[in-house]
Amino acid sequence: MNGLALTSLDGADTIGGSKLLLEWEDHGVLLDFGMNFTRANRYYEEYIKPRGTTGLLDHVMMGTLPDVNGLYRTDLMHPDLVLEGRKVEKIDAVLLSHGHIDHSGDIGFLKREIPVAATAMTAAIVKASQDSSRNEPGKEPVYFSERCVRETRGTQLLCSGRGGVLYRDYHLLDEPPTDELSRFWRFVPSHALRKKPGATELIPGRFEHGLESVDCEALPVDHSIKGACAFIIDTPNGCVIYTGDLRMHGLRHGTTREFVSRARASKPYVMIVEGTRVSKEDEEPKHPSVTEEEVKETADSIMADVGGGLAIADFGPRNIERLEIFLDAARESHRKLAITAKDAYLLHAMHMIDTSIPVPGDDMLVYDSPKGSTGKFEEWVVEHEYTDSLVRPSEVGRSPGDFLLSFSFFDMKNLIDIKPKGGHYIFSSSEAHNEEQIIDFVRLGRWLSRFGIEAHGFRIGDDEKPVFESSDGPLHASGHASADDITEMVRAIDPDVLIPVHTESPKWFETTFSGEREVVLPERCRTIEL
Ligand SMILES: [Zn+2]
Repeated sequence: MNGLALTSLDGADTIGGSKLLLEWEDHGVLLDFGMNFTRANRYYEEYIKPRGTTGLLDHVMMGTLPDVNGLYRTDLMHPDLVLEGRKVEKIDAVLLSHGHIDHSGDIGFLKREIPVAATAMTAAIVKASQDSSRNEPGKEPVYFSERCVRETRGTQLLCSGRGGVLYRDYHLLDEPPTDELSRFWRFVPSHALRKKPGATELIPGRFEHGLESVDCEALPVDHSIKGACAFIIDTPNGCVIYTGDLRMHGLRHGTTREFVSRARASKPYVMIVEGTRVSKEDEEPKHPSVTEEEVKETADSIMADVGGGLAIADFGPRNIERLEIFLDAARESHRKLAITAKDAYLLHAMHMIDTSIPVPGDDMLVYDSPKGSTGKFEEWVVEHEYTDSLVRPSEVGRSPGDFLLSFSFFDMKNLIDIKPKGGHYIFSSSEAHNEEQIIDFVRLGRWLSRFGIEAHGFRIGDDEKPVFESSDGPLHASGHASADDITEMVRAIDPDVLIPVHTESPKWFETTFSGEREVVLPERCRTIEL
């Protein structure tokens, strides 16, 4: 490869699932390697999933992973799988923009020789998320045990072998790993808390500062998760900008503005830009522009009015700005915010990188759900790290006005232990995107009415479908830039070539920037020579 080439291995025309391959000379980088929910939801739901014992087979056959040679872990190659796609020669690293699953979720399928380069915060988030998830092939971005073929009743299955736990190399682009983070990196909950530790060997990879083989810079941007960055990649054929996901209207919009001025100064040849919120031609603009400040005002005013009953907020605690909003709202209404053990584990990891991130203590507690599943990471949170900051269901039941519970739909079963008599549920997250989520909201509505709890932020309409509106004021701000902000950003950075990704409306970019600069629309697995 002499010039510069870009191949969208996936995510060309969907929101999420970004898997971009950028190549020049004898170098190659993957810009994110996320899970494509849109593609997966075409075939799968809760009760039909890719099988855990067939490695890559189900994923490649059903197109939820691209058919490419030279990328994947050989231990996940099922004997029935034949890869017919192009051969990828050399990958220097995955440049991971942030820790959302639609950007990071398929890294575990990549061969171990491909390292990940990310900010320290993103690495910590990805590691904590793996620790608190089930071990499925592919859902192992940081460490894994190699699978081996086992024959059962004439079929060949890929099962966990007896080898050690292998780590992938991670390169932290913004800061060197601290001792605390390095210890956390080597901590595998299921391994550390086992009765007889040491039975399985941990085989570490490199975990260090900087990436030598590629000239790239990670610039912080504001998004709905901490640690998000955009990349400036300097190649002999010109400078390439990759925005990842970003926004201009969050509380930390200054970081995005700083990125824009640095990107402009690099005089980029190519800019690969996200377009989540740009609309199709015949559509109204997606989502009215709401800021986090407006969400804060609404949350505060609801909490001031809820009285002494049970209050629940559903906001996805990895969205730290939103966590801070509800932690403040809890304080002002003299309540303590109670989060799940899984969320506590994630915050604990994030706090290692940024000590301003709250962890359980005086005004934030861990909801100790004794009837919940006790994963090893939960055992660690509840029995080892935050033993003094636990709250039991009976305490919440006795004095519901003392707490604000951070629960999602999937935590609703805890209401059976709490036995609330009425209360309020504040939905402060993104609305349903697919049929399955719509059904979940209908179920959530039933749980709430069974316990006499009033919903804010959504209601179930007469047609038994959720309606996302809030008479109290806005309760959700998008993590993505508006179409106007994208336009302004592109003109400010001023690349020669613009490549839209992470959008269902790539044509919007052609229309908006026609006659102004070259716009190239990617197609799945087609290589664009730049
Ligand atoms: Zn994202």
